[in-house]
Amino acid sequence: MPQHADLGLIGLAVMGRNLALNIADHGYTVAVYNRSVERTDEFLAGEGADAPIVGVPTLEELVQALVQPRVVVLMIKAGEPVDAQIDALVPLLESDDIIIDGGNSQFADTERRTAELAEVGIHFIGMGVSGGEEGARYGPSLMPGGSTEAWPHVKDIFTSIAAIAEGEACCEWVGAGGAGHYAKMVHNGIEYGDMQVIAEAYDIMSRGLGLDPPALQPIFARWNTGRLDSFLIEITADIMATLDTDGAPLLDKVLDAAGPKGTGKWTVVASMDQAAPTTLVAEAVYARIVSSLVNQRTTASGILTGPHGAIDDDIGAVVADLEDALYASKIVSYAQGFMLFEAASEEFGWDLDTGTIASLWRAGCIIRSRFLADITAAYRSNPGLSNL
Ligand code: NAP
Repeated sequence: MPQHADLGLIGLAVMGRNLALNIADHGYTVAVYNRSVERTDEFLAGEGADAPIVGVPTLEELVQALVQPRVVVLMIKAGEPVDAQIDALVPLLESDDIIIDGGNSQFADTERRTAELAEVGIHFIGMGVSGGEEGARYGPSLMPGGSTEAWPHVKDIFTSIAAIAEGEACCEWVGAGGAGHYAKMVHNGIEYGDMQVIAEAYDIMSRGLGLDPPALQPIFARWNTGRLDSFLIEITADIMATLDTDGAPLLDKVLDAAGPKGTGKWTVVASMDQAAPTTLVAEAVYARIVSSLVNQRTTASGILTGPHGAIDDDIGAVVADLEDALYASKIVSYAQGFMLFEAASEEFGWDLDTGTIASLWRAGCIIRSRFLADITAAYRSNPGLSNL
């Protein structure tokens, strides 16, 4: 097979498929491979049919299809599969080729893989990718880190596919080793915190003030026009307005149990390691754990009825206080997250630029918000800012 593809991509589940389509939309030819060949065939027969995307059934053919230095992006399940995939790829690659791991890998694994691959002449980039399916397809927030030498070779590709905020691509080099995946980890921890404080505000208005979802919709919608303007507040308003087929609010029928995905817990563990308190993220992780104890909570709710409708203050005043409280909570949470970056930067020698990290989250990702533009501006106007 002639060497003509600009980039190889391994892993055609939801993230890999959408990233391949996004890259192809920007004028690059992508060679794709998936462990189960049926997934490749299905993708190329469907969404990928009209794009400059070539499917290959083996790793050997993937490597042969790529221009040099070869760039291979892994979008596969994090953990052991990434090591196994790297082990299978390395004998087929040559010096100066580049492997990019776009999954949710632990930063310590990325740190190790960057060092191990450098010994055999392969560049490794651990790139945090945020924004889920839609972000991957139309513009994610990208947090690359690892082999600094490799970045100039791939910068144009990833800058072109990223989300745009205030005219700038939400893709910039974060730092050496595991810095990119560290940024993604803290991003996910902060995301847990944002969701938790929104849930607590909802709970106070729902159980405390006795407001049902349709009554809460305009409150969240109004909050979304002010300083809380963000993707998560926007979709909360939409959720409040969503009715089931019987006309009842859908939210009231959703089991209030959330499972952890790992990165929130990693953030808390990392913050303990750095003695940099991320108390709000920790509370959010604990709240998820408590939420999953469904049987115990169900039993307890039969004994303790709770303070339903117990707040008899002026509703408008309570809602205004909650808006302020939510904003204050976000300030605490983001200040804590950025304190963690400062501590980790020193510990690992990453020389992290906190203003750049804030700028990457302004668009494309789940925590995108007006507030992040303010944080970016704060760091840019005062680069020596020791604490938000
Ligand atoms: P996923 O469900 O995490 O992983 C499925 C993909 O991994 C499939 O292509 C699967 O191949 C492949 N895979 C699993 N074990 C493998 C192994 N041992 N060797 C080779 N390939 C293996 O897929 P995803 O949701 O698209 O996520 C991909 C990565 O992005 C993950 O690290 C995820 O944490 C991260 N991420 C996901 C999101 C999201 O919203 N989903 C957002 C940001 C980041 P088969 O088809 O052969 O099983």
